[in-house]
Amino acid sequence: MAEAVRDLRSWLEVLAKDGRLLQAKPELALRFELAAISKATENENAVIFPRPGGHSIPVVSNILADRQWMADALGISSSELLKRFMQAVRNPLKSVEVSQASAQEVVHDKPDLLQQLPIPTHNELDSGPYISAGILISRNPETGVQNLSIHRCQISAANKLGVLLLPRHTLAYAHRAAAKKVPLEVAIVIGVDPATLLASQAIVPLDYDELEIAGALHGKPVDVVKCRTNNVRVPANAEIVIEGRIIPDEREPEGPFGEFPQYYGPRIDSHVLHVDAVTHRRNPVFHTIVGGSTEHLLLGGIAREATILDQLQRMFPDVKDVHLARGGVCRYHLVVQLEKRSEGQAKNVILGAFATHYDIKQVVVVDCDVNIHDPIEVQWAVATRFQADRDLVIVPGAQGSKLDPSARSGVSTKMGLDATVPLDADPSHFLRIRVPGQDDVNFDELKPCTSLEKLLG
Ligand code: MN
Repeated sequence: MAEAVRDLRSWLEVLAKDGRLLQAKPELALRFELAAISKATENENAVIFPRPGGHSIPVVSNILADRQWMADALGISSSELLKRFMQAVRNPLKSVEVSQASAQEVVHDKPDLLQQLPIPTHNELDSGPYISAGILISRNPETGVQNLSIHRCQISAANKLGVLLLPRHTLAYAHRAAAKKVPLEVAIVIGVDPATLLASQAIVPLDYDELEIAGALHGKPVDVVKCRTNNVRVPANAEIVIEGRIIPDEREPEGPFGEFPQYYGPRIDSHVLHVDAVTHRRNPVFHTIVGGSTEHLLLGGIAREATILDQLQRMFPDVKDVHLARGGVCRYHLVVQLEKRSEGQAKNVILGAFATHYDIKQVVVVDCDVNIHDPIEVQWAVATRFQADRDLVIVPGAQGSKLDPSARSGVSTKMGLDATVPLDADPSHFLRIRVPGQDDVNFDELKPCTSLEKLLG
């Protein structure tokens, strides 16, 4: 097994070596120009932007343009991705504290976010510049256990961020801080390796430090350093760290912001983060994720797939693999590969899959000969193996995603499609056509045609 990549610059070197990293023209505008290029290349290339908006710190985007890239960063094949992730979740590695860190080579005691960092504005109606690829690390004020998660962070002032906290772990810690009447100590870490980004998306219980999952994915504990102005521990080799406090009862307007379903999350009263210091490497890189881009969708998608597969296999050992389709924003449309052994099993799997996450709106179950990562194959299975009167499951009025604009306040209808071949079918009836040798073609023997006239006579 190859080694996992452990910091952002090593990953950028890997991408540069094999031509996956493009370099944009210097001095592109931070407002829209940079995001436009990122969007246009989101499925093919990472991009580095020198001197964006005249700023000395370069910006990178699309550092994960494809799920294969995540596998490459972990040193495994993409078919091992979900298994490897769950293995890391089950066998976390405690971080190791160090006293010297490249993340603190430069210290700004007087924070001025837009002066000190190149922070872009992405989508048309975004309220302004946002930090979108920052891992927010918070500390349980009672126990000191840390949590990692990514939140949208609006630049509200030179030393103030508006942070959307959904009802998950950071908010739970904020409530504990409120009960003790103390601010919640936090840090926002920008510029880490793909494994750390993926670990931050793990669906694990409260008080489960996701950085220890990153350590397990690295095969080596993460070195952490204490922040200069609070007790939060951050990865020592991060590019940039923003240290600060969230005041539990304070709210200010934040948004709109382009979100993962390719629609805007509205302007609402969000938490306020007061910045106490900005630290970074001597020559740091700023990572940005364009809202709704492939990179945005993949990060959450892969972590969810791993959890969904794990839960489904506990109920149904014959489930072989799952995939959250890109067209379903890596959240709403699930494809399940099943080695069906009894009739009706696919419908039970559909019902089980809805229970694994309320976001899941459509489940398609296919046989093992269908490549669930190829939307054309999945559509083909539905076209040729599914009949709506006998193979469709509908569950009206269930809990769904609040960000799905077709749902009414998050109430949504679930749809399941059993696209598996009946077990008692005549094998010749569902025999897939195939050209002998189609998988062994040597493309080196095929050359561009330069002598058409000669060939046609
Ligand atoms: Mn957590």
